[in-house]
Amino acid sequence: MKKETQTSNWFSEVNSPENFRKIGYELIDLLVSELQIANSPLSEQKAIEWKEPEDMLSHWSADFSSEQTADLLTLFKEITSHSINMNRRGNVGHQISAPHPLTVLTSALIAHLNNGMGVYEVGMAGNAMEKIIIEKLASLFNLPSGAGGFITSGGSLGNLTAVLTAKAHYLNKNPNVSLDKLSILVSEEAHYSIERALAIIGIPAQNLIKIPVNSRFQMRTDLLEDYYESACNEGKIVFCIVGCSCSTSTGAFDDLTSIASFAKQRDIWFHVDAAHGGSVIFSERYNYLLQGIEAADSIIMDFHKMMSVPSLSTAVIFGQGWHSNLTFSQNAKYLWQDQQRDEWYNSGKRTFECTKPMTIIHVYTLLRVYGQEIFQRQIELQYDLAKRYAEHLSELDNFGLLCQPESNIICFRYFEKNANLNEVNKQIQLSVIKEGTFYIVGTTSNDDYYLRISLMNTRTTLDDLKKLTQIILREGKKITAKTNF
Ligand SMILES: *Cc1c(COP(=O)(O)O)cnc(C)c1O
Repeated sequence: MKKETQTSNWFSEVNSPENFRKIGYELIDLLVSELQIANSPLSEQKAIEWKEPEDMLSHWSADFSSEQTADLLTLFKEITSHSINMNRRGNVGHQISAPHPLTVLTSALIAHLNNGMGVYEVGMAGNAMEKIIIEKLASLFNLPSGAGGFITSGGSLGNLTAVLTAKAHYLNKNPNVSLDKLSILVSEEAHYSIERALAIIGIPAQNLIKIPVNSRFQMRTDLLEDYYESACNEGKIVFCIVGCSCSTSTGAFDDLTSIASFAKQRDIWFHVDAAHGGSVIFSERYNYLLQGIEAADSIIMDFHKMMSVPSLSTAVIFGQGWHSNLTFSQNAKYLWQDQQRDEWYNSGKRTFECTKPMTIIHVYTLLRVYGQEIFQRQIELQYDLAKRYAEHLSELDNFGLLCQPESNIICFRYFEKNANLNEVNKQIQLSVIKEGTFYIVGTTSNDDYYLRISLMNTRTTLDDLKKLTQIILREGKKITAKTNF
C-alpha cells in the first residue's frame, strides 16, 4: 500500500502541470529566439552546422551515458543546435516545409489530445474536419460531386493506398487475373514510392512500365500508345497510369489532360501524384499546371511540402469517394460493427493506419486563421522566385540550368570548360554544406550531376540566393584550380 502511494506521488510529480508550464515557457522562448534568428539577415545565420556521422554519434553517445538530467532546456538547445532548422533563410535543400509557427502550437495540441482517429469516438472533431477539408480540396480540383477521401501519413503511404485501391477496383471487376500480369504506366521521373508500392503489393518490378520524358522532364504522352501496345503483346494488363504533378527531382508537371484522355479510352485507373505540386490549386496564376486533374480517379497531396505544415500529413482524394471503401476489406469487428457500411466518420476503415494522428488540425487552423490566401501567397512567392533565380543563373557564364523551372525546384550546375563537371559539382555541394550558410542537395539526370534547390521557406529572398551563387562560384573556382579536373 505504501509503495503504491509512493509511486502515485512520484507520478504526480512527474506529470505536474506546474513543471509542464515551466519547461513549456522555456521551450517557447527558445523557439521564439530561433524564429528571430531565422528572420535576421543571412549573414547572421546558418542553415546547417555540418558534423560527420561518426562525430554526431559520439556526441550523442556521450550525452546519453551521462547522468540523468532535469535540465530540459539545455537538452532542447543541444538538439536544436545539432539539427537543421528548416526556417533558416539558407535552407533550400529538400522539399520539407518550414513549418508555420501556428503549426508548432497545433502540434502540441495534437500530441496532447492524441486522438487515434481510426474510430469515430477517438477523433470526433478530427474526422469531421477531414471530411470538410477533403471536400473543399475536391471542389478546388473540380472533381465530380461524390468525390471523397481522407488524410494519411505521407505521400509514400498515400501512393501505396491509391495503387491498392486501383488494384482492388480492377480485381473487383476481373477477379481471376493474376498479380504477375498487372502493370502500371509511369513517367521515368516518377517518385520511387510508386515502385515500392508495387513491391509491397507483390507486383513484379518489370511490370512498372516507365515512359521516357521530354526535354522538360514531362512524360512523353506521344509514346503512351506504343508502350501500352507492347505491354499488351507481352501479356501484361495495364490497370493504372500515374501522372506526376510535379516530379520530385526536377519539378516538372506532366500533361494530365493527355494522360486523362488516354486513361479514359483504355478504361485505366488514373492516379495523380500531386504530393508536391497539388498546392498550386490555390493559385489562379499557377493552377493551369494541374489542368486535367479533374478527371483523376485518385490524387495525393502533401500538406507538409508546400503548405507550411509539419510532417507528415497527406490528403488522399478519390474522384468517386466510395472507391476508398474498396482498398482494405479486413474485418476488425472490435473496431467497427458493420464493415460494409459507408461511414465517413470511421476513417480507419479506409486508411492504412490504425492509430492515426489528427494532423488535419494544422491545415484546418491555417485555413480558419488566414483563409486560402496563405497557400496562394506561398505558391506564388516561391514559384515566382524560382523563375527569377533561374533568370539570374542563365545570365552567368559559369552556370547551366538542367531545365527552366516550372515549380519552386531548380536544378543547375557550375560550369567550366574541360572540367569534370560531375566531380566538381559533387564537391561544390559538399563544400556549400560544410560552409553552412546554405543547405543544398543534388540530383542526377542522364548520368549528369546537378545541384538542386527547393524554395520552401518564405524568408528566402533573391538577394539571399545571389549570395548562394557567389559561394558556388567561389567554391567551384577553388575546386577546379586545386584538383585540375
Ligand atoms: C515527396 C513526394 C512523395 C513522397 O511523399 P512523402 O510524404 O515524403 O512520403 C511522393 N511523390 C512525390 C512527387 C513527392 O514529391
